[in-house]
Amino acid sequence: MKIGFIGLGIMGTPMAAHLVAAEHTVRGYDVVPGALDKLVAAGGSAAKSVADAVDGAEVVITMLPNHPQVEQVVLGEGGVLESAKPGALLVDMSTIRPETSIEVARVAAEKDIRVLDAPVSGGEAGAKQANLSIMVGGEESDFAAAKPLLEVMGKTIVHVGPHGAGQVVKAANQLVVGGIYALVGEAIVLMEGCGVDAGTGLDVLAGGLAANRILDLKRESMVARRFEPGFRIDLHHKDMGIAMAAARQADVSLPMTGLVTQLVAAARAMGHGSLDHSALLKVTEQLSGR
Ligand code: NAD
Repeated sequence: MKIGFIGLGIMGTPMAAHLVAAEHTVRGYDVVPGALDKLVAAGGSAAKSVADAVDGAEVVITMLPNHPQVEQVVLGEGGVLESAKPGALLVDMSTIRPETSIEVARVAAEKDIRVLDAPVSGGEAGAKQANLSIMVGGEESDFAAAKPLLEVMGKTIVHVGPHGAGQVVKAANQLVVGGIYALVGEAIVLMEGCGVDAGTGLDVLAGGLAANRILDLKRESMVARRFEPGFRIDLHHKDMGIAMAAARQADVSLPMTGLVTQLVAAARAMGHGSLDHSALLKVTEQLSGR
């Protein structure tokens, strides 16, 4: 398949490389020109603009930071909707607010462009190992058309409802992930505060009812205080905002999510926005005078 891939960052780069390895023709675009080097080395090609990447593509994939970038790349001048051929399928895999996904799908339909929101979970490791969870919103027939491509990048791929539903499920995912990071950080601070080796303690937790993927993947780096991203605090701050706004719109009360949102905001205010979200541990340490 001929694929235009826009946004070759931490996640987009390995995801696009898997598509190349599966013998698709991938033409990438990113505002940072150096971001395309790895795609080219993997066998893809570098476009000079969004229009260039999208030209003649059957499928366009976007993996961008947030809704303003998706709006610019998709709806803006020289964007996907101006440049893609009628009948093309746009799969937005960025994490953005559901209302933007709904609006993009509405405007795209007027140009005969089909759209799915297909945000992912699994982090950089999941992108590299092609075992992402992918939650998809949109038409069932478009999901069926996209599924073979999504299977190249992910393992758990589920159609969760109409346009925007993928983003709602992703918001739910992010509040759970944030809560787990906050609590693993508290577990480390407690054990260290009591003079118990936190690494050894977390090894035991990872085999009991507290077991989870974050303990598996991140307990060593957290105990060692290695916080290179991964997934930046700035992006998790965006995602907690999406969850809180969705909760407000749905008229539901999410007190734990509110607390985690404030911890993520504190991490950002302390200057840790570009660190991995596991750096929530730093907030707990500071609150504990450590
Ligand atoms: P990133 O910042 O590493 O990558 C985003 C890329 O988009 C960058 O290379 C940037 O230059 C490019 N970009 C920005 N504006 C652009 C524009 N107008 N035109 C073309 N390219 C543009 O971010 P990431 O970590 O890869 O995350 C991408 C999305 O995936 C976000 O929505 C994030 O929330 C989500 N996500 C990230 C992770 C993770 O672990 N990093 C996990 C799941 C989901």
